[in-house]
Amino acid sequence: MTELASYAVSESNSRGRRILEAAPSGRSEFQRDRDRIIHSSAFRRLEYKTQVFVNHEGDLFRTRLTHSIEVAQIARSIARRLNLNEDLTEAISLAHDLGHTPFGHAGQDALNGCMKAYGGFEHNLQSVRVVDVLEERYAAFDGLNLCFETREGMLKHCSLEHAAQLGELGERFLNNRRPSLEGQIANLADEIAYNNHDVDDGLRSGLITLEQLSAVPLVAEHLQQVREAHPGLTGRRVVHETVRRMINTLVTDLIRQSAGNIASSNLVTLEEVRNAPALIAFSPELATKQRVLKKFLHTHLYRHYRVMRMSAKAQRIIQELFAVFMEDSHLLPPQFQRNADRAAHARAVADYIAGMTDRYAIREHKRIFAVGEDSI
Ligand code: MG
Repeated sequence: MTELASYAVSESNSRGRRILEAAPSGRSEFQRDRDRIIHSSAFRRLEYKTQVFVNHEGDLFRTRLTHSIEVAQIARSIARRLNLNEDLTEAISLAHDLGHTPFGHAGQDALNGCMKAYGGFEHNLQSVRVVDVLEERYAAFDGLNLCFETREGMLKHCSLEHAAQLGELGERFLNNRRPSLEGQIANLADEIAYNNHDVDDGLRSGLITLEQLSAVPLVAEHLQQVREAHPGLTGRRVVHETVRRMINTLVTDLIRQSAGNIASSNLVTLEEVRNAPALIAFSPELATKQRVLKKFLHTHLYRHYRVMRMSAKAQRIIQELFAVFMEDSHLLPPQFQRNADRAAHARAVADYIAGMTDRYAIREHKRIFAVGEDSI
């Protein structure tokens, strides 16, 4: 294995864990973080949480679990090429969506609306809350007690108001500093993964078509390459050959541009990374193309009337569950009931709802509201 760059996160420059633990044997600290994440309950629930399509819509669509694995794959490839800490990018990628509500962004927006009077709800912050507080796996502490750099990478963005309450973790938002390069990689690998898999899932669902996507340069140029290399190719293979090329182009561009940025900044230490502008980046040309694709997906897929219908239903489920649990805490499972005041009660309700999978939320809603349902 090639040696890590001097500005990569390593065990020697890590700020370590909040609660001191004996060093792991046979694996690195960041491999241990990754392993803790994979064995968490929140990670397993990602299998039944979705981003765009509700979980029961079809077995072929991405879930947050497969999304997180795709992000980790892309992030690791990039980290390895730049001599950065591959294990850390993997841990961040696998954990980055742990705090997501059921029903993707519709669920997040609904829960944020419900929590308005109680400090709001941000899925990024919730991911950190899952690994810092909510997981119950250790005798000695709450959460997973992950390394600072893993938690830092998970917190992509956060309001200044929340940052002020986060201590060490929130400092960089208040002082306008950057996370490690590994964290920056996980962030952009997330974008590469979802833009491309949403094209794939969008086409599979029939909500968008290849003809429509021909207006998007990033898709059009790769589709053209496929048609030239494989005249007569039809069906799913055309889509897969195109998406494959798009991911490759984006990853290659990101590596080239970031390597150039790092070289010209004359970085030596991790501290300098945190004070420098963001160095992991696409070239300006690819950044623009990626934005056009994103915009297309917003207009034609995320705001497609059939997706909007799913979202509206999802929002109603979340709002109704929140209201009923706020009104009567006795309807909550006992571990969510003991709360001193209304704000703490609201936070417990948000934790309970955010932890639900799509299908659990649907079932819970039926159990509470549907008359004649025989399940309790
Ligand atoms: Mg994501």
